[in-house]
Amino acid sequence: MNVLVMNPPNIPFTNSSLLAPPLDVVGLATLIKKYFDTSFLDMDALRIQEIPRNIYETIDVIVALIDYQIPLHTTKATEHLLEMIKKYGKEKKIIVIGKTPTYFSERFIKAGATVVIRGIYDEVIIPVLKNIFHIENLKQIPNLVLNETNKMILTKREILNNDYSKLPIPDYSFLNFQNYMDTATMITSRGCDGACKYCSTPFFFHRFQSRCAKDVVDEMEILVTKYHKKKIIFLDDNMTISKERMFEICKEIKKRKLFILLGCLSSIAHYDKALFETMYEVGFRWIHFGIESGSEEVLKKMGKPMNIDYIKQVIKEVKEIGFRVRTSFILDYPGSKVEDFNQTKNLILDLCPHEIRLHYLAYRPGTPVTYENPAEPVSTYIHSPKSSKDLFYQKEILLFLQDLEKKNYLVLLEDQEWSSYNELSKNTKFVSMVPMKYGMCWYE
Ligand code: SF4
Repeated sequence: MNVLVMNPPNIPFTNSSLLAPPLDVVGLATLIKKYFDTSFLDMDALRIQEIPRNIYETIDVIVALIDYQIPLHTTKATEHLLEMIKKYGKEKKIIVIGKTPTYFSERFIKAGATVVIRGIYDEVIIPVLKNIFHIENLKQIPNLVLNETNKMILTKREILNNDYSKLPIPDYSFLNFQNYMDTATMITSRGCDGACKYCSTPFFFHRFQSRCAKDVVDEMEILVTKYHKKKIIFLDDNMTISKERMFEICKEIKKRKLFILLGCLSSIAHYDKALFETMYEVGFRWIHFGIESGSEEVLKKMGKPMNIDYIKQVIKEVKEIGFRVRTSFILDYPGSKVEDFNQTKNLILDLCPHEIRLHYLAYRPGTPVTYENPAEPVSTYIHSPKSSKDLFYQKEILLFLQDLEKKNYLVLLEDQEWSSYNELSKNTKFVSMVPMKYGMCWYE
């Protein structure tokens, strides 16, 4: 049986200068390859909206994985995928996986998908593929939504082990690295022990699971020796949840004398000075903290209570260690008042991070904030104002951006070609309302 594993097109297509390989999709293809003839298609990277004829004619099953870990897919991209399913579902078996299909499975089945896998795919994808032509067998597999001649059938719900540490290292030969940004990316864990109400990670992946230090550094070595990568960003939602594991990873990097520049996403709640010093020693130079608000009241509402003075102390220490620091803020969290917005502005000015990412809240499916605000339009990814009530923020943000410009920040309001920013000094500061390229302005 021939299986096509695909990353459906992001529409509008992801800006090519910040395009990261869809590692979850590569991981899925790697797993399937052990059992079936497998081809891989990143429609976002190739900027194509249809499966090329020569590939389409050779395949029996299409497996599409969307917004599993990196939530770049827009509502428009989802609509386009539904159109593709309508077209291809007449001739091919189609399996759909991801957060959006999990929460909106009915729409995918109605469009013509054969199976939607609800939640994590690890333990069920191979049994599903083996039984894809036998609906009665599929009914015995947990966590599926099935299409039985346009009737929707839900199989039993079961919490599976889904041991992340058992998944193989992604097979990078599926990728043409020329299609992606220079900085390599890795994902080594999933889940989070936090409970931020706007984030789907703890609710979708449940408990934190990770790959061991040896496995992580094996993968790094492949990227360094075989693909000559000079920088790696770990796109784990929160790389420093397990202090012990991070210490182990640093020890392993040191032992193998691996020289590569590294960056990762962390959280203030999982900061540890000794750990960050050790990380710096082995090559970590860039760190992202989702701080999200300068108001303790709003932080409580968000489900991430934090003391503002402690945030200031952490950022000061991290900068002193030598990291380039990116922080993100959500400006319009429900229940925020003008004074909360002012507190956020003051905190940003006080922290003076190297990179600032300002967001409007995206109401992602499956998150508490979405359930608490049923009137808001659910989306997986929004970076523009949503309604007239945002006019206040639009006006205030523009004024704030002018303040930051006076403090030598480069202000980025629209997607752009990032190559012109490659040679800037490591002290260059950015503030952005759009996704920023990884790996900029940190060199050694
Ligand atoms: S710390 Fe990060 S990954 Fe964890 S719940 Fe909060 S936003 Fe999500």
